[in-house]
Amino acid sequence: MQIDIITIFPDFFRGPLDFGIVRKAREAGLLKIEIRDLRAFTRDRHRTVDDRPFGGGEGMVLKPEPLFESVEALKLAPREERAAAKQSVVLLSAQGRRFDQALAVELVNLDRLVLICGRYEGVDERVGTHLADREISIGDYVLSGGELGAAVIVDTVTRLIPGAVGNEASTRQESFGPDVSGSNWSDKSVRPTRAGPTRVDSTCASGGLLDYPHYTRPAEFRGMKVPDVLLSGNHEDIKRWRRRSALEKTLRNRPDLLEQAELSKQDKELLAEIVGGES
Ligand code: SAH
Repeated sequence: MQIDIITIFPDFFRGPLDFGIVRKAREAGLLKIEIRDLRAFTRDRHRTVDDRPFGGGEGMVLKPEPLFESVEALKLAPREERAAAKQSVVLLSAQGRRFDQALAVELVNLDRLVLICGRYEGVDERVGTHLADREISIGDYVLSGGELGAAVIVDTVTRLIPGAVGNEASTRQESFGPDVSGSNWSDKSVRPTRAGPTRVDSTCASGGLLDYPHYTRPAEFRGMKVPDVLLSGNHEDIKRWRRRSALEKTLRNRPDLLEQAELSKQDKELLAEIVGGES
């Protein structure tokens, strides 16, 4: 997969994409990231990328010409053939579809992903309507530029590339992970591995819930103890405790997710227990 990021601040990306899983994926050749300086596509002496808004109003707007030329220089498939060519041009925008794990799963199937970072008051609308294939927002708040959004998307998509995260099963058991049966997610989320399609086989797997709590050594730290059940070696009890904890945390922090999650009979019993205040 190749990701091109178009920005007026290329140096911004020194750092965010040079650590951990993203760095390793780049070094392993699983992912190529190219940062494109928008100003390289200007033609005037001042390398102007912005201009005043038609109709008046606050601030400056990114001009269309450099943005169109910067994308054209990437020699992608024509816009109407891009989806079939597994390519997508994304405009980072507070007005876009909200980014989530399901959208990340969609993007990881691409061969080429282009991320256009807006700045100032935003981007000439023709970029959204005639150049980009879609607009993506990383959340319901306004950033000062698309760069942080681009970094968030690259990070999230990278850990879904097969081989990028050491233990592939771990990306499937996390918060917002696929349903245990896979039924909450498109089939695309079930990526074939050498051992056949990956299925989460433990009952504590996410299934649309938040992740369960993790602990490591020491078993007691400043008087704070790791739950006994995790030290018990009883795998059934551990699974049940993890599932219950995931349900509990989801109910507390993100009750909206419970409406979407596919809950088993046992899940519903656990939830009833939690709501009833039993331990
Ligand atoms: N006037 C715009 C905000 C412009 S902020 C509005 O009200 O919608 C400048 C740039 O930051 C945008 O062009 C976009 O590229 C980026 N940006 C701001 N908020 C964002 C968000 N929530 N997600 C992704 N990109 C965002």
